[in-house]
Amino acid sequence: MSPATSREISMYFPNGFDEFCGNTAAIDALRRRLGDVSGAANLLITGPPGTGKSGMAKVFGRTLCCQSPDLTIGRACGGCGSCRLFDCRDSELYTDLWAPRGRSLAWWPIDCGNVSCRDLRLVRRHSSWEFDQVVVWLDEAHRLSGARRGQLLKKMEEDPNAFFVATTSEPDALPLNFRRRFAEEVETEWADASAITRWLADRCRQWGVAVDDPSTFALLARRSRGNVAFCQATVAAAAGLPERVLTATLVRSREAFFDAVEANV
Ligand SMILES: [Zn+2]
Repeated sequence: MSPATSREISMYFPNGFDEFCGNTAAIDALRRRLGDVSGAANLLITGPPGTGKSGMAKVFGRTLCCQSPDLTIGRACGGCGSCRLFDCRDSELYTDLWAPRGRSLAWWPIDCGNVSCRDLRLVRRHSSWEFDQVVVWLDEAHRLSGARRGQLLKKMEEDPNAFFVATTSEPDALPLNFRRRFAEEVETEWADASAITRWLADRCRQWGVAVDDPSTFALLARRSRGNVAFCQATVAAAAGLPERVLTATLVRSREAFFDAVEANV
């Protein structure tokens, strides 16, 4: 496998749950639902921004739709028709007929801050003769307007084949009658330094980026304060250098970058 370019590392997105850092409760809750979502309890994932909630939901959807997934790890194959379609239509609704594991499945991600009439029409139109199962991901669920929430609630109450997973950084902003529709809640948190250190070692091996000393992983993990995106950007910067080495000097030289990102969080 050829080493990943700086740009590829910047754009990197986990292929499976084994590429996440910590947050095992949320990952296990999603993984348990991968084998069969029919009758699964709706799931609410809460946690601060940047802790991986949306990434987990996307990996969940991609693995559900994949024609030959690894359900034990929770990992899509990345090469089948469903995976390719998923990757190139990431921001759109999936209304195609998926047939993983012999069942038709529709995966509908909804950006709750920007719900279109089309989103709602498609979700409400679904009936059991169209798909065996419909899985709806409500991203930033606290941003749903009252009217939209009411329409979705109706769907949640009436359709036994619809499964909802919602992600939000502001669970207390959700009205109780809506929140109660999610039988299980899990919380994500910032990864600890040791989990990030391991993640960095794994990713650098995967991407073909060398390190001047193993202690540099721990240095970057500490400096990132649990934010995996900081680490990813720093490894991408290392990959952009001719020697492709992550060094302690590089990590220290990025103090201004870390400060600027933190100031904007
Ligand atoms: Zn696949």
